[in-house]
Amino acid sequence: MAQVPIVERLFTWPAAEPRLIGSRCASCSIVTFPTQSSCPRCASTEMGEHLLARRGRLWAWTIQHFAPPSPPYTGPTGDAFVPFGVGYVELPGELRVETRLTESDPERLAEGMEMELVVVPFRTDDAGNEVMTFAFRPVQGGRLESRPTRSEPKASEGPLS
Ligand SMILES: [Zn+2]
Repeated sequence: MAQVPIVERLFTWPAAEPRLIGSRCASCSIVTFPTQSSCPRCASTEMGEHLLARRGRLWAWTIQHFAPPSPPYTGPTGDAFVPFGVGYVELPGELRVETRLTESDPERLAEGMEMELVVVPFRTDDAGNEVMTFAFRPVQGGRLESRPTRSEPKASEGPLS
């Protein structure tokens, strides 16, 4: 089975250590993801490619327990749907990236825990290709800075498309 990225130029891949591809403004240094051709802060068009940090800290998350509306969602639905975590990971000095999480058990997620980027299967397309997307997973042995005292979802943001 061939593997194809869900969107071209979204992350470096295949790669042992994939990176998200963002952009950085040459004028004010703001970092964006995905890439943008003009700066959202100062409107400069001097945006250069910037590979984002592979590791960050979990900032907020929720668990997607049912298939999101389609479109824009293109993943498995019905009996094939498997709950997954979605959240924001803060990349130091860069930005908070909205992302799928490999972990869907809220008891195993905690604010501030160290997360790293991975590329994972998302669905199989009509041609039989395995469509790959990015996600963040807890770093093995990563130290928890705090544990939540409740397990309710921390964010009410919509699911990833
Ligand atoms: Zn700028």
